[in-house]
Amino acid sequence: MERRIVTILGIPFSKWGMQETVRYLTAAVSARKPHQVITANPVMVMAALEDPSYKKMMQQAELIVPDGTGVVWASRIGGDPVTERVAGYDLLHELMKQGELHRWKVYLLGASPEVVEKTASRLKELYPGTEIVGYRDGYFTAEQDEEVVDEIRKTSPDLLFVARGADTQEPWIAKYKQRLGVPVVMGVGGSFDVISGKTKRAPKLFQKLRLEWLYRLIKEPTRFRRMLALPRFAVRVLRERGNLTKSR
Ligand code: UDP
Repeated sequence: MERRIVTILGIPFSKWGMQETVRYLTAAVSARKPHQVITANPVMVMAALEDPSYKKMMQQAELIVPDGTGVVWASRIGGDPVTERVAGYDLLHELMKQGELHRWKVYLLGASPEVVEKTASRLKELYPGTEIVGYRDGYFTAEQDEEVVDEIRKTSPDLLFVARGADTQEPWIAKYKQRLGVPVVMGVGGSFDVISGKTKRAPKLFQKLRLEWLYRLIKEPTRFRRMLALPRFAVRVLRERGNLTKSR
C-alpha cells in the first residue's frame, strides 16, 4: 500500500482514514515485522516540539495516526488534509473486530490490575473470535521491564495494546518493539479505563460537537495544565501555516 503522509510541525501523520489504516495494519500482522502505532494528538505534537528525544522517537514510529480534532484541523490549514480523525479508542475496537476474521492473538498491558482484568473479559465478550492470550497491569518499574517483555514474548501475540500514560507508553514501546517481536504494538492511553467501565467516554453530543476534550476537562480538572498545549498548538499552526506541512 502506498504511504500517504502529511507532516505537521515535523511529525509525519498518516493521511489514511480508519478503513485504510486497518487494512495496512492487517498486512503488517501478516508481514510479522514490528510496527509501532502512535495515535497522536496536539498535546503530543507540542511535547515533541519541546523534547527532541520524544520527537525523534515519534519520527521513528512506523505509523502515526491523527487522533484529536486539532490534528485534522491543522492538516486542513496546511492545505494537505488527512481523510478523517482516527481515534485510538475506535482503532482498538476495529482491530479487535478484524482479529475475529484472522484469529489474532492479543495481549493487554496497562492500567490497574482490576481494570485490565475487566477489560480482558469485556473484550472477550465483544470479540469472542479474537483470543486474549494474556494481560497485566501497567504499574511496574523499569527494573521489571525485561520480565514484562519476556512474559509477552512467550504468548507470541499478533497485537499488543499498551495503556499507560502517553509520556511513558510511547517511549516504552519504542525501546522494546524489536525485542517484543509483536507485529502491531499500539499505545491506547486511558482506553482500558473506558472499556472496563471505570470512566465514561464523552456523551455522543460532545463527540459530535468535537468537544470531547472539554468533557474530559470538566471530569478531570487536573488536565487543565496539559490542555494549555491546545491553544499553543493552534497559535503555532496558524503562525507557520505557510510551511506547516514541510518535513524537517
Ligand atoms: N497507567 C499505568 N501505569 C502508570 C501510569 C498510568 O498503567 O504508571 C495507566 C492508568 O491506569 C490509565 C492509563 O495508564 O489506565 C492512562 O493514564 P492517564 O489517563 O494518566 O494517561 P494520560 O492521559 O496522561 O496519557
